[in-house]
Amino acid sequence: MSGTFVGMPAFPEAARTAVRNPTLRGNLRHATHTIRDKRARAVAELDDWAALREAGKRIKDHTLRHLDRYLVQVEEAVTAAGGTVHWAADAQEANAIVARLVKETGESEVVKVKSMATQETGLNEALEAEGIRAYETDLAELIVQLGKDRPSHILVPAIHRNRGEIRDIFRSEMSEWGRPAPEGLTDTPAELAEAARLHLREKFLRARVGVSGANFMVAETGTLVVVESEGNGRMCLTLPETLISVVGIEKIVPKWQDLEVFLQTLPRSSTAERMNPYTSMWTGTTDEDGPRTFHLVLLDNGRTDTLADEVGRQALRCIRCSACLNVCPVYERAGGHAYGSVYPGPIGAILSPQLRGTGSEIDASLPYASSLCGACYEVCPVAIDIPEVLVHLRERVVQGGPAVRRGNRVVLKPARGHAAERAAMRAAQWAFTHPGALRTGQRLASRTRRLHPRTLPGPGRAWSGSRDLPEVPAEPFRDWWQRTRGGKDGAK
Ligand code: SF4
Repeated sequence: MSGTFVGMPAFPEAARTAVRNPTLRGNLRHATHTIRDKRARAVAELDDWAALREAGKRIKDHTLRHLDRYLVQVEEAVTAAGGTVHWAADAQEANAIVARLVKETGESEVVKVKSMATQETGLNEALEAEGIRAYETDLAELIVQLGKDRPSHILVPAIHRNRGEIRDIFRSEMSEWGRPAPEGLTDTPAELAEAARLHLREKFLRARVGVSGANFMVAETGTLVVVESEGNGRMCLTLPETLISVVGIEKIVPKWQDLEVFLQTLPRSSTAERMNPYTSMWTGTTDEDGPRTFHLVLLDNGRTDTLADEVGRQALRCIRCSACLNVCPVYERAGGHAYGSVYPGPIGAILSPQLRGTGSEIDASLPYASSLCGACYEVCPVAIDIPEVLVHLRERVVQGGPAVRRGNRVVLKPARGHAAERAAMRAAQWAFTHPGALRTGQRLASRTRRLHPRTLPGPGRAWSGSRDLPEVPAEPFRDWWQRTRGGKDGAK
């Protein structure tokens, strides 16, 4: 299996393969139900959860509204604290900056803290192309990397693997990357954790460059915050001489006090903990403590385009807790790989098509990867109305793909596979604006109802194969209304 998501098929195709794998479904069901139940208990402990959720939403919305100002403030504060700020418009630019900075140190390997932003940019593969090896140090990311696999969950990237599979990966792959797995390794959690600890320890002690993301950036001080559970992040952030952090521009909070909200909502929503085990914060560089050199790469990569969309921009509030994944009935069955992105589940279904556009098959299919049940909105600690954005993006997909220039006009190019839907919508629009024709059509449909097929032909069969087509009534509603209530408007 490739380590990247390039060239993934559309969601329905990928999901069809995934749901036929009983081991995968068993692993996912067990894991998502365990985490979601624990989260519910952790959230229920707080009387002011609703107020915290509203506060988080407001802080994020305020920050996004004034993002230009806060970004400048972050740059000034980080620079004043001894760091260097770089701006990356897209993934390619971010990767090129990081590769250059690593080469300038003379090193050819880096240790990494778990980071969604660098997964989004495909940093490991870009560094490899430049002769630099990146070692993932988060336990689940290590499992994914050793298994030449792809992450399938934001918080638990190896959620699709069970303990036996992890033991086999450690036994066969660890020696390729460094210290081999201990002899006779079993699948008990303690032994697996110890094998990973020993394997990683030599890398922590050797590495001179660390690469991280950040959960938050505090604008007023230029402080970056990483929350994690294993301590690997603390090692990567403090031991190397050079630290490079790649952070999405939406990760800003204006003030230290704002962390009071998110450091309560994030751990409870993600790992169901009251408090995060390791919360590391750093501001530029400090004499005789931590890295001597600090670089911050601020990543756009589609975020300002997302910000321009009045409905879709709420996706930028996301604090990557993954609560929406763990309650989603579609994610539970299809698994994370089917979403073709480092952002799986409900948040991935609204974020990826906005960051990458809806021009590809996989991105145009993602807004449909939902039953719109609304469970994701209920659990989201920053109240992102994911169903609302999904419907909005469906509209965008049906209306057209990317804008293209035709002569001196810019038009929306029809998205692939949606021509029939567009034609159906146009026909419906015409019928509803021609009441006489609509009435005639309804009467005709009622009179010929015994001749109607029970299943749809062609691609429509996929829909009618698992549902009953609604029966056409013997009498159209408007005729029934007129017959039983008298006049056209219902007046007797
Ligand atoms: S959308 Fe909400 S629930 Fe989902 S990962 Fe982001 S913050 Fe968490």
